Amino acid sequence: MRTKLMKQSGPILFDDMKRTVLVVDDESINRELLGSILEDSYDILYACDGIEALQIINDYSKSISAVLLDLIMPNMDGWDVINKMQNDENTKHIPIIVLTSEHEAEVESLNQGASDFIPKPYDLPDVILARVKRTIELSEDRTILQSVERDKLTGLLTKEFFLEYVDITDHFYKDKHMDAVALNIDRFHLLNEIYGRNFGDRVLQTIATAIYQFARDNDGTAARGEADTFFLYIEHQEDYKQIIRHLKEELKQLSDSINVHIRIGIYQRELSDNDTEKIFDYAKIACNTIRGNFQESIAFYDSNLQKNAIFSERLVHDIYEGLDNGQFKVFYQPKYDIQCDTPRLRSAEALVRWKHPEFGMVSPGQFIPLFENNGLIQKVDHFVWHEVAANIRRWKDELGFSVPISVNMSRIDICDSNIVNRIRKLLNEFNLKPGDFHLEITESAYSSDTERLMNVIDELREIGFLIELDDFGAGYSSLNTLATMPIDVIKMDMEFVRNMHKDKKTLRMIELIMDIAEFLSVPVVAEGVEDKTQYEFLKSVGCDIIQGYYFSKPLPLDEFEQLLIDNKKEGGK
Ligand code: C2E
Ligand code: CA
Ligand code: CA
Repeated sequence: MRTKLMKQSGPILFDDMKRTVLVVDDESINRELLGSILEDSYDILYACDGIEALQIINDYSKSISAVLLDLIMPNMDGWDVINKMQNDENTKHIPIIVLTSEHEAEVESLNQGASDFIPKPYDLPDVILARVKRTIELSEDRTILQSVERDKLTGLLTKEFFLEYVDITDHFYKDKHMDAVALNIDRFHLLNEIYGRNFGDRVLQTIATAIYQFARDNDGTAARGEADTFFLYIEHQEDYKQIIRHLKEELKQLSDSINVHIRIGIYQRELSDNDTEKIFDYAKIACNTIRGNFQESIAFYDSNLQKNAIFSERLVHDIYEGLDNGQFKVFYQPKYDIQCDTPRLRSAEALVRWKHPEFGMVSPGQFIPLFENNGLIQKVDHFVWHEVAANIRRWKDELGFSVPISVNMSRIDICDSNIVNRIRKLLNEFNLKPGDFHLEITESAYSSDTERLMNVIDELREIGFLIELDDFGAGYSSLNTLATMPIDVIKMDMEFVRNMHKDKKTLRMIELIMDIAEFLSVPVVAEGVEDKTQYEFLKSVGCDIIQGYYFSKPLPLDEFEQLLIDNKKEGGK
């Protein structure tokens, strides 16, 4: 496949493109003669001396493909023009073909930096045309080859080379409506981890072949960026669903059972855009807005996205200061046991909040996914665990009791080779029992490095921690997870509760989850419970524990502490 791509992906856009050449000669008859030879193949600019030539060259340095230059002219001669062009970074790449009748001048001009010469008189039009064409081809090839040309695995252009390509195309087709497209595979690292690198490579190659063909069919070209990112520069499309459909079909041929989710971000180039790299950054920003969203495959860029991207950058930048200056706070959302006569506060979930000095309360929904992507989540989580441990200790000392508090654990926390020790140390530091702490691990973490996760969970459970499977039912490997993973509690994804009265199917799903939990002998927590109907239905199907606004929002430390005290007075645990 690679050779096929290599052969085909020559300068697709260049072949039929009409280049511009500049003819510089003081004699009008010569200009006309050359003009008539070249005009079918090239757009032609004319200058009648060196000064005028330099002026035009400076104005059009990016779109002139070659200069045909007479040597002997009034005002400024051709030698001077060669010299000045060679010494200017913006013009030295433009090939010069010298027009002369003297053999010595031919040799000397080549020595000075000219690429070729055309002898006067112009009696061999075919030879002239061939020489101009070859000079331009050689010069373009040289420019492009300066970048590393092709990606080894897929045979597509590398991004660097591709950007150069796009740049040149834009100079020739300024008025064409073009789209910058970024394509990415959701959770590609998981495909590699679960099905092996070979499979991952084949996925990349399949995508490369398909998008290459698509680009060719749409007057464009394709490239591979880092890892699982691809780029396309193609004529504006109204419908991107067809390419997604096509990619899905191709990938299905690799494996029927593995669902590879592809997403693309699109930026429509505007005439005022002149930073090529930026238009692909915009496409990437659009693409990232649907990361992890399995319902969406296509996203268009709008200027708000740029603001969000800047906002995200700020958050990443400010996290250290935030942690140092106490801007992060832990809130506690109570969980109630509903299978006794009156609901009882049994435990709580620790949820982090960030009070940013400039942006005010930033919701974890905004910063957690961001920090999960770049690993900073560990810093936040370590802070939360430490806070929670310290408070449980204090409640025990000051109130004489506490309730178990569950903390959230991300996939990245589990990849930390020191995780078990870290948690053990925390217990020792505050003299706590493992039962004081529950660990909520979100389902998506379960589909990463399964073996490692299994070992970590085994070790943590051996120490005595309870493991709650968070957001159960939201991901794509739920049942499989349950069959192989040791867990102690199922936390049903909030969407089930939210949609339960919209359709019968969801109600049935909730009942099914209850059956599965019964089969595994583990309790079920329902979160996001907001009203009485939801509560009563859940109670009727045997749900054990409820967390949600119906009972309480997540509370700041002092309010939660008061709740603990009141609850104790009323005879709760
Ligand atoms: P989650 O673990 O599924 O947490 C439950 C989320 O549902 C919380 O949102 C909570 O405030 C919200 N919630 C609770 N009851 C209701 C309700 O009745 N209705 C509605 N609409 N929402 C309710 P929050 O605090 O914004 O957290 C969002 C997510 O951020 C959490 O989802 C969790 O995945 C993550 N997160 C929060 N704190 C931490 C943390 O300290 N570490 C890590 N790794 N992740 C955290
Ligand atoms: Ca949680
Ligand atoms: Ca959850």
